[in-house]
Amino acid sequence: MKFDVVIIGGGSSGYVAGSVLARHGKNVLVVEKEKFGGVCVRSGCVPSIFLYDVSFSLSRSSEIGNYKGLTIDVGARDIFASRNTLIEYLSDAGQKLVENAGGTTLIGEARVKGSVVEVNGKEIEYDNMIIASGSSPLLPRIKGVEGGITEDQAVNLDYVPKEMVVVGGGFAGVEIAQFFARLGSSVSLVTRGRILQEMSEEARKIILDSLEWDGVTVKENCEPVYQDGKLLKTTCGEFRGEVVYATGRRPNIPEDVSSVGVKVNCNGIVVDRYMRTSNPRIWAVGDVVDKERKVAHSAMMEGIVASLSILGQPVEVDYSVVPQVIYTDPQVAVVGNRRNVVKFSTFPLSASTRAIIHGIREGYVRLGFDEKDRICFGEVVSHYSEEIINIVSIAIKAGMRAKDLALVPFVHPSISESVSNTAKALFNLDVDVFKDKNGT
Ligand SMILES: Cc1cc2nc3c(=O)[nH]c(=O)nc-3n(C[C@H](O)[C@H](O)[C@H](O)COP(=O)(O)OP(=O)(O)OC[C@H]3O[C@@H](n4cnc5c(N)ncnc54)[C@H](O)[C@@H]3O)c2cc1C
Repeated sequence: MKFDVVIIGGGSSGYVAGSVLARHGKNVLVVEKEKFGGVCVRSGCVPSIFLYDVSFSLSRSSEIGNYKGLTIDVGARDIFASRNTLIEYLSDAGQKLVENAGGTTLIGEARVKGSVVEVNGKEIEYDNMIIASGSSPLLPRIKGVEGGITEDQAVNLDYVPKEMVVVGGGFAGVEIAQFFARLGSSVSLVTRGRILQEMSEEARKIILDSLEWDGVTVKENCEPVYQDGKLLKTTCGEFRGEVVYATGRRPNIPEDVSSVGVKVNCNGIVVDRYMRTSNPRIWAVGDVVDKERKVAHSAMMEGIVASLSILGQPVEVDYSVVPQVIYTDPQVAVVGNRRNVVKFSTFPLSASTRAIIHGIREGYVRLGFDEKDRICFGEVVSHYSEEIINIVSIAIKAGMRAKDLALVPFVHPSISESVSNTAKALFNLDVDVFKDKNGT
């Protein structure tokens, strides 16, 4: 059996690449060892954001309804069954996206054997290969760790534990801690450093306050020492409950990949700007790659970039516009490079007419500008961050200057007009905010 392109992994990056290559006439095979969809669909973004949505509705609906003169009584019914149905629907969709485009899919574990790939005992030849095998949870090396569960398992729990201890203060740990607390669990969160270390102090403080409001006990600068069943001993005391490790991930490097000349380091497979590995016939995309921000949208874009490169239309991934969103309430989103900022401007969501109508006014939009007055950074803390941040990415990509952005007539009232209001603030044109002739 021979294919133009064999793709190892049917997650976000793999099924996107498979679909693109098939649409453009390549005879492509996507091999997946479990089910299509990968971590994002089956044990990451999708279940996690579903539980975020559910917990948001449970904890905020009546407050928002009350503001609008409504009586809203929300209760949990079949949330886990609904989540499972959603996962299967999107998992199936990932596979069909490849097949409907004319690609072939195969369930089985792919092994790299010299210049062929072996799946279910059969050898498959290829002209090109894309490694899209993703990442797996990385657990701390402590005694009794096997008594805990991983972040991937936590978002797939079919019950709400009475007590939960989350280890790890990165985005997954913080999200899990908040939505399980809102679902009724008594949650402690312990983390080696500080929670959400990459975020600004202001954003971190808002999330810490929010976690506290939800009843989560947060212990920073605290490390796990050992686990004994449902008891976790740490450097800052003992905690009881379902122990969830959200302590980072490691790349899934297919066995024997170095035998075909693919260079690997401890953070993943080394690639060039076109996602090509040190073997010119082999590309790598997604979490398995040696890169900084391992998120689904960059994985998907890398799937497109590798495909275009194979199709002879090389383009590069622009990592300066890959945003990160943390699905807490409020959400935190960042994009761009803080290091190039010479001046910041901030617009409070409490001054947004649309946010006031909606009844969710927490947070702000902050933009950073470089020495040429171009937008180079954005941080959004708000219920609407996931949408607002995309506009900031476009502005950065387009190299927009503050004045140009300030003069785009965004829809009023809309949440996204907060982006142009942030630029307007630099010229004392942000009329939604109470200010005087000095702009203060
Ligand atoms: C709890 C959690 C929440 C997250 N939330 C978000 C979010 O909100 N937004 C976001 O952008 N990102 C989020 N992420 C990250 C996101 O899920 C990953 O960046 C994304 O899934 C990476 O896609 P991928 O295609 O590289 O790998 P994966 O999705 O891991 O897919 C790899 C696939 O390859 C298969 N595979 C591996 N080895 C082989 C082999 N030898 N043969 C055949 N198949 C193989 C695996 O079974 C898997 O299906 C989250 C992650 C977690 C854990």
